[in-house]
Amino acid sequence: MNGTDMLTIGAFARACRLSPKALRLYDELELLRPARVDPDTGYRYYAVAQLERARLVAWLRRLGMPLARIREVCALEPTAAAREIRAYWAEVEAQTAVRRDLAAFMVHHLSEQSARDVTMKDTTMLELRYSAHSDRGRVRPANQDTAYAGTRLLAVADGFGPAGAPASGAAVEALRFLDTEEVPAGNVLNLLEEAVRGATEAVRDVADPSENGTTLTALLWTGSKLALVHIGDSRAYLLRDGGLFRITHDHSVVQSLIDEGRLTPEEAGAHPQRALLLKALTTGAPDLKLHDAHRGDRYLLCSDGLTAVVPEHRIRELLTAQADPEEAVRALVDAANEAGGPDNISCVVADVV
Ligand code: MG
Repeated sequence: MNGTDMLTIGAFARACRLSPKALRLYDELELLRPARVDPDTGYRYYAVAQLERARLVAWLRRLGMPLARIREVCALEPTAAAREIRAYWAEVEAQTAVRRDLAAFMVHHLSEQSARDVTMKDTTMLELRYSAHSDRGRVRPANQDTAYAGTRLLAVADGFGPAGAPASGAAVEALRFLDTEEVPAGNVLNLLEEAVRGATEAVRDVADPSENGTTLTALLWTGSKLALVHIGDSRAYLLRDGGLFRITHDHSVVQSLIDEGRLTPEEAGAHPQRALLLKALTTGAPDLKLHDAHRGDRYLLCSDGLTAVVPEHRIRELLTAQADPEEAVRALVDAANEAGGPDNISCVVADVV
């Protein structure tokens, strides 16, 4: 390599838009080593050919990618590097979505708190009409799901492990006090957090958490809003104006692969790890969300025994066709059983009337 190909650290820094300080750091981290270090002066020299890698590092830094991950990406050939960057960005977006929901929840929570003292707002006469049913399905020897619906509380829990049934039962049982308690709208966040903590302890008491656990998806009615607690791969849907919207995000391995762009939703259904959860009640923090209720809204809570075998367009049709919550629940459970009923099936349908 002759001298004309070599740039001083200052010239190289200007050319790749990294600071000399950053270049020294990347040298220490072995992310980008100088082509030559003068043994007498310690000056670093870079080859012109290194500019491309330096620019890649600079761009990835601008994306916010951690240095350790940049090192991995830089070691890959371009196609694999592109895939890795796509996966990284999908993860960032998924994390942002969770934080966005939490921020929205807190905005609701705080504005309700401030409004609470001023006036008894929201005296609209909305209430829930509901139905719940849990079915063993056609393959499993026992039902480890628990479904519950009351005037204020709707819940579905899908237990797993040898003590899966007591686990899901204990989780829902621990929330049931919410059904009879007057729920102050401004305090719903604290109340839910406390209730979920209680449910987690209750599950630990009845089922060894090293081999058992449960999902939990529950809605708490405040009279004008629905507060959602969710952990695991049971789901909540909202049917509004003829459209079906999933309002929970599965905490499952396949969902994270979909989020990272490594798997399509169509491939997910056949994935060997589709039942693997990223977190459940005793192993992670649940998502919390607050939903404005509209007259005419229909909510569905269900375990994966429904969604694994009945496609969403069919769920929407069945929910739309049945006026009565009880009939809707029965139609959904029947549809899952007609599709083979490979898992326990739980459905809760509630109308805002
Ligand atoms: Mg299940």
